[in-house]
Amino acid sequence: MNKAIYIFKRFKSRIFKKFAEYFFIYPKNKGCNICGWSGSRFLNDKWHENVICPKCFSSVRHRLFKAAIDEFYKKDLYLLISNKNILHCAPDKCLKKFLKINSKTYTTGDLLREDCDLVIDLCDMKNISNNSYDLLIVFDILEHVESVGNALNEINRVLTKNGHAIFTVPQKDGLKYTIEGNSKLNKKDRERQFGQWDHRRIFGSDFSEMLTNYEFMVTEISDKNFRLEKVLYNGLKPFKKSLNPLATNERKIYFCKKIN
Ligand SMILES: [Zn+2]
Repeated sequence: MNKAIYIFKRFKSRIFKKFAEYFFIYPKNKGCNICGWSGSRFLNDKWHENVICPKCFSSVRHRLFKAAIDEFYKKDLYLLISNKNILHCAPDKCLKKFLKINSKTYTTGDLLREDCDLVIDLCDMKNISNNSYDLLIVFDILEHVESVGNALNEINRVLTKNGHAIFTVPQKDGLKYTIEGNSKLNKKDRERQFGQWDHRRIFGSDFSEMLTNYEFMVTEISDKNFRLEKVLYNGLKPFKKSLNPLATNERKIYFCKKIN
């Protein structure tokens, strides 16, 4: 029964996606820098209006990542992606093609999904030996794991010398210190405190320092690094701030280089 509902939902979502992809095409004042779609508006998600590409389903964080690669890392693309072994954790479909065709090897991993190459628990990647990957992509996962410290130690361990990890996390506006939930919280508590039943914490602006403490050199990139025209056209930030106090209205991408 659950499978039937799942299949029905996927079918409905595909139909809607196709409809939106071709319906919102004029005027062309928005464009996706990942799949090349352009049109009048992006789709809404749970938190924000006008943020999801109707063709590839990219959201603000994916397009911000691509914009950073195009503008700041293009010269270093070889150093970061080309000829590199990449592990994409809980892979977002919209980035798969770009990463796959530009890398040496491309591997996907997830704890629960069946469509990935590896079953991995970020806090204990016992099936991956030290120094295995040059780049780990970890977008919106650290809010789910049992221990951020264990996950960052493990990520550091499986990275090669001078390897990179790229992170995004949900961050509450103006929150200085990350709020951790205790292990007794039930699903409803988590939904109320962190915005989603399977989130264990909500990050503050101390996330960057957290990464530094785990032997990473951090470069933080947000929409403020780009021309306003580009931000508005590619949707590199939500056009309208969500009034939900738990929403991430200011997305940041953390490009991190392993120090040792
Ligand atoms: Zn797209």
